[in-house]
Amino acid sequence: MNEPARTDDATAAAVAALVAALGDDVVLTGDAIPERCHTDWSGHAPARPAALLRPRSTAEVSRALAICHAHGQGVVPQGGRTGMAGGAVPRPEDVVLSLERLNRIEELDAAACTMTVQAGVLLEHVQQAAAEANLLFALDLGARGSCQIGGNIAANAGGLNVLRYGPARDQVLGLEVVLADGSVLSSLRKLIKDNAGYDLRQLFVGSEGTLGVVTRAVLKLHPRPRRVQTLLAALPGYDAAVQLLRRLQASYPVSAFELMWQDFMQTALEWQAGRRAPLAGSHPFYALVELDGDADADAVQATLAEAAEAGLVLDAVLAASLADARGLWALREITGEFPARLEPINFDLSLPVGAIGEFAERCRTALRRRWPQHRSLFFGHVGDSNLHLTVDGRSIPGVPHGAVDALVYELLRDVPGASVSAEHGIGVLKRGWLGHCRSADEIAAMRRIKQALDPRAILNPGKVLP
Ligand code: ZN
Repeated sequence: MNEPARTDDATAAAVAALVAALGDDVVLTGDAIPERCHTDWSGHAPARPAALLRPRSTAEVSRALAICHAHGQGVVPQGGRTGMAGGAVPRPEDVVLSLERLNRIEELDAAACTMTVQAGVLLEHVQQAAAEANLLFALDLGARGSCQIGGNIAANAGGLNVLRYGPARDQVLGLEVVLADGSVLSSLRKLIKDNAGYDLRQLFVGSEGTLGVVTRAVLKLHPRPRRVQTLLAALPGYDAAVQLLRRLQASYPVSAFELMWQDFMQTALEWQAGRRAPLAGSHPFYALVELDGDADADAVQATLAEAAEAGLVLDAVLAASLADARGLWALREITGEFPARLEPINFDLSLPVGAIGEFAERCRTALRRRWPQHRSLFFGHVGDSNLHLTVDGRSIPGVPHGAVDALVYELLRDVPGASVSAEHGIGVLKRGWLGHCRSADEIAAMRRIKQALDPRAILNPGKVLP
């Protein structure tokens, strides 16, 4: 599958054709390309691309891709570049296609409960526009102020509300995509039910820019919950966490159930030195829970008291105000500081919910046996079967990240039905591990789809498929 590297001449010819067709306001080259476009939040191997394309419309995206297709020119689509798997990182011979100028909210249809947006709108702006109409756009993640909705869709982002509302895939009713050859598939429908042939839309969600470029979408909105209760509970063990989750779900719509292992909470409290700990003492697990719907505080307190009596909860605090709730979330959101305070080696594993606790213990034991001084943090969206693990590379100086990857993914391979990526995607960083959770036949089928839609392999070259 390895193609010979493109010559500088071939790339120069493609860039010249792009400038001639689209002008130098759309096509930037050399030092005019901002450094932020050289990599993404993964920090993987930065490179200055041969050009940066900033189209202003679907028609310009289409023209750009038609030219790249004709020249066999590699194209790396970029949204807010907040991905964790290196999916938006260009090579020097690629051109980057930024969707940042497609930044308009086109319509909010209150009757259909939909919003039609261009790909470059920030997730936070989508959320705000929905809130102004007293509706909810349910996708939410820490990078909300930087990530773009087109990138969220291309990566099938998960985040904090998946438990109740599903990942990005479940928020997309209609999609407009430009294919590698420049043809435009515009299916901007608002239908909940639509069984007319293959669901092409879902093929592009989560394809990480390898099958087409998302330019517009019709997003599904929800009624805005009248009240949200946020609580932090200290728990004696992993099984108690799962039992508490199921018990809460029987009484309330649970929109978030974030589990933090003891080491994670200790780190959060250390980093927030000076703030009073919300719960006294130190406990094996902590669950940060959000209940929406219309639960009132007394009812939630009663449920927690029953759970405590049953031995599932050691201690708990219910946020009394929005500021309290934000304070509890700030503990979970220290992950935003990982790049500055650690040398994070990140894992985004998916396992059946019942298997996560034991896997985490096995993983910790194996890491400790191999690197006794290593430091790791376990946390995750456990209700969504998603375990995050971050190993601090600084605690094991000189150990290549690949060795840590190999240890964790080898353990994961033994768990039936597990996946090497729950929500971050494969990008370039996990490409080599795809075979740990997809069969050879599955990967062959992926290749056939790629070949059919992008026969010259120009879209996000080298990403996803091994
Ligand atoms: Zn996550």
